[in-house]
Amino acid sequence: MELNKISEGKTKIVYNYDQEHVLLRFKDDITAGDGQKKDILEGKGVINAQTSAILFRLLEKSGIETHYVGMMDERTIIAKKLKMIPVEVVLRNIATGSIVKRLPIKEGEVFEPPIVEFFLKDDRLHDPLINYSHMEYFKLLNRKEAQYIEELMLKVNEVLYDFIKNKGFILYDFKLEFGRLGDKLIIGDEITLDSMRVRDEKGRIYDKDLYRKGADLNTVKNAYKYFLSKIMS
Ligand code: C5P
Repeated sequence: MELNKISEGKTKIVYNYDQEHVLLRFKDDITAGDGQKKDILEGKGVINAQTSAILFRLLEKSGIETHYVGMMDERTIIAKKLKMIPVEVVLRNIATGSIVKRLPIKEGEVFEPPIVEFFLKDDRLHDPLINYSHMEYFKLLNRKEAQYIEELMLKVNEVLYDFIKNKGFILYDFKLEFGRLGDKLIIGDEITLDSMRVRDEKGRIYDKDLYRKGADLNTVKNAYKYFLSKIMS
């Protein structure tokens, strides 16, 4: 079948499938620092497609709608065609990453309730933090929609946190992207170790922070593989 490419990002290619669906093909590329650091990690696309599929199915089972429909092959997800909103929504349970550089917050501080932040998806500007007014001004999300998404992020967190905890890990934070389907706002993109931070009780890292911090590619791949094997079982 001749596939029509709609767009290509740093780690995924989007193809047109039919009127209502797209194919998301996960590449083996791993990047950090808005694409400044870049490598090929053979097999990563398959691992991330599988990880996303498991976590999307988990959300669906918990009554949270996502764009996930099924698998086309081991690295390709069939998804509902959404009009994606260029906003990255981050939920943080435990402080690490950009928040400890931006605000007087110490690494490891626990947020109860969790903190939700919005970022404009713009590599050139390094994905700046934005608020309700910015999102209204740019016609991305109105205040009511932003509040709805915040509530949804908390629900997603309850499901993901407990599931991941049962597998022996702690979910520090995660990022979701949303799209429109008619008047609905639906979770799109991916849920993988590229887009969430997962550690164990001893503080060992299993996510893309390994790569960001300069671990060798094998270590990164083994962590991704190990996490996937745990959530599959
Ligand atoms: O860098 P920061 O601490 O803001 O990241 C918060 C969460 O969002 C992390 O889990 C990170 O992997 C994810 N993230 C992402 N894509 C980005 C920026 C952050 O998936 N462009």
